[in-house]
Amino acid sequence: MAIATINPTTGETVKTFSPLEDREITTKLELAQQAFEQYRQTSFQQRSQWLQQAANILEQEKANFAKIMTLEMGKTLKSAIAEVEKCALVCRYYAENAPDFLADVTVKTDASHSFIKYQPLGIILAVMPWNFPFWQVFRFAAPALMAGNVGLLKHASNVPQCALAIEDIISRAGFPNGTFQTLLIGAAKVANLMADDRVKAATLTGSEPAGASLAAVSGQQIKKTVLELGGSDPFIVLESADLQLAVSTAVTARMINNGQSCIAAKRFIIAETIADQFEKMLLAKFQTLKVGDPFADDTDIGPLATPDIRQELDHQVKIARENGAKILTGGSVLADMPGNFYSPTIITDIPLNHPIAKEEFFGPVALLFRVANIDAAIKLANDTPFGLGASAWTNNESEKKRLIQEIEAGAIFINSMVKSDPRLPFGGIKRSGYGRELSIQGIHEFVNIKTVWVK
Ligand code: NAP
Repeated sequence: MAIATINPTTGETVKTFSPLEDREITTKLELAQQAFEQYRQTSFQQRSQWLQQAANILEQEKANFAKIMTLEMGKTLKSAIAEVEKCALVCRYYAENAPDFLADVTVKTDASHSFIKYQPLGIILAVMPWNFPFWQVFRFAAPALMAGNVGLLKHASNVPQCALAIEDIISRAGFPNGTFQTLLIGAAKVANLMADDRVKAATLTGSEPAGASLAAVSGQQIKKTVLELGGSDPFIVLESADLQLAVSTAVTARMINNGQSCIAAKRFIIAETIADQFEKMLLAKFQTLKVGDPFADDTDIGPLATPDIRQELDHQVKIARENGAKILTGGSVLADMPGNFYSPTIITDIPLNHPIAKEEFFGPVALLFRVANIDAAIKLANDTPFGLGASAWTNNESEKKRLIQEIEAGAIFINSMVKSDPRLPFGGIKRSGYGRELSIQGIHEFVNIKTVWVK
């Protein structure tokens, strides 16, 4: 894939970038290693100041950064601005909390003094996706830098200007040269980087094939990875739920980021007794959504990020249709518009035994299922290779307990949509990946948890 900014709203190639040559990659690796030797000696107080300054820059220049995102991957400008604000929040969160998260922990043993000490690992490689092109990077960078690691970013090939802007923010915030560098490289270069002794670990957010490929090479090298992969999150609505609120949240939860979010609600699992009503209300809302220019204030849904994503989504919808599913609304590319637009779509009557019922639909397509009771809801919710998030709606206390206990996912949100929050760990189980980002668990992923025992 070429490294380029291609406007998904128009299809126009705005700017292309030459990938780094091997010798340039080596130079950046050397710089990162030298930077680490110095940077690991800096105090938490100093790192916090730099990270707070990064937050200041993000807040002061949010409109500019948001424009780059909308230009490169098509999210609505208003959601891009919110994304930049959230990046500032995660920087401030770790600037304030990392010293506590990484403080020595005394443990009483037969030693005169024994304790746990957290130390940085060195160069961490971050392979990141285009869908939240700022958030995914800062979610990694804020804890990694506070822990004393240095970062190399291999961003998705369609968001090079975002990648360069992030490197620039971290540099202008005051972090020493080489602490955080962007590598404009294709995916084929990742394996060699992982094999380099100086790279100590990696985090990848993206698709299953990309995660599996990175994990395979990291396994060969005995290096730690964190993988944040896809999801086909259930959104369960049971009879006692507040239906109005569930339906309006369902729309937001499915359509966030033009439908391209790992934790978007994708499979709507509705109790039979309220299913007709839910379907009618959801359909009415889908039909009023405004698809169009992501820079316009009143746009709800912009284009998909690339032509390939739209083609893949349309292919999945066709497979569903050919296998007996019913398209309630949408179900086609918006061919009369330039760019990668797709109509908001609702699909029902999906055959449960067909693989399509378990796949991730990465776009504005909702799959609707009806179930007889909570047992059937939980069974269907868990009947997927993924286990990222789950949202469940009920006002019955015993149902809440069962859902919390029995849903197989990294997170369950009761009477709310799934969302990430710097204060709570984020990550999946099953084929959604492993490891956690955010919160105290996130900062402990890339440190040496050293046991110290002194007689
Ligand atoms: P992708 O194709 O896997 O790309 C993600 C990143 O991995 C890009 O930087 C890509 O580089 C790189 N990559 C691709 N193949 C690789 C390989 N074989 N080895 C090493 N790196 C490789 O994913 P995407 O289409 O951009 O993103 C969509 C997927 O990400 C969805 O499944 C979504 O659910 C998931 N996602 C998960 C989370 C989460 O937190 N769990 C968050 C967001 C998205 P190039 O661009 O150069 O190919």
